[in-house]
Amino acid sequence: MRLARIASADGVAFASIDGDPGDGARVKEIAEHPFGSPQYTGRSWALDDVRLLAPILASKVVCIGKNYADHAAEMGGEAPEDPVIFIKPNTSIIGPQAPIKLPRSSSRVDYEGELAVVIGQPCRDVKAEKASDVILGYTVGNDVTARDQQRHDGQWTRGKGYDSFCPLGPWIETELDPKDLRLTTELDGAVKQDSRTSSMLHDVGRIVEWISAVMTLLPGDVILTGTPEGVGPMADGQLVSVTVEGIGTLTNPVQDR
Ligand code: MG
Repeated sequence: MRLARIASADGVAFASIDGDPGDGARVKEIAEHPFGSPQYTGRSWALDDVRLLAPILASKVVCIGKNYADHAAEMGGEAPEDPVIFIKPNTSIIGPQAPIKLPRSSSRVDYEGELAVVIGQPCRDVKAEKASDVILGYTVGNDVTARDQQRHDGQWTRGKGYDSFCPLGPWIETELDPKDLRLTTELDGAVKQDSRTSSMLHDVGRIVEWISAVMTLLPGDVILTGTPEGVGPMADGQLVSVTVEGIGTLTNPVQDR
């Protein structure tokens, strides 16, 4: 099932999507929240008549650094033996088609295309083999990074925490095996990243175990699983698209703030 958050003429709601974009897809409004067994209100719209928002409301976005060996190498280091985690504030989240805003204080803001995990229930100390029990589904993420500030500060809160630095979407796919999916990032239509999730150093199960040993994960929380090689800068006026096989494409324009 595809789960989304939509803005329609009647307001904002969670919804499920039946069918494919451009092929008569419809969205069915979900009452309250999408966790557990969603209840439908009976209202529906053509997909073309609603705006897709970030597909989930998260209390936090937990990210994995250097989870692909080729990206660790391009950053000038070796991949760490254990997962390295950091947090982006939930105020950095934006939806599909919303602009990524380049802060004037940075001279280099990069895209990082990533598979995003969406948590479906409160959980702590989850074993890797039980991770799928607590996962609602998967969406596409872009771990936008002010690379100069990441390097300057020595830790990443500023460089990765600006408003609009966490595009998510276009929807959550609940029926998906994340083990071996193609992930591509395009900038103005030119392919910049092209890899597979099977190249992750720490898979989704290990990541969920590692993070949930530290902090309670809540429904809607998002885990960004790391980016492969090919990161690079974006400029005002460009269009960045991240595609994960089996989910879809997340596209955002880039604008000076
Ligand atoms: Mg990243």
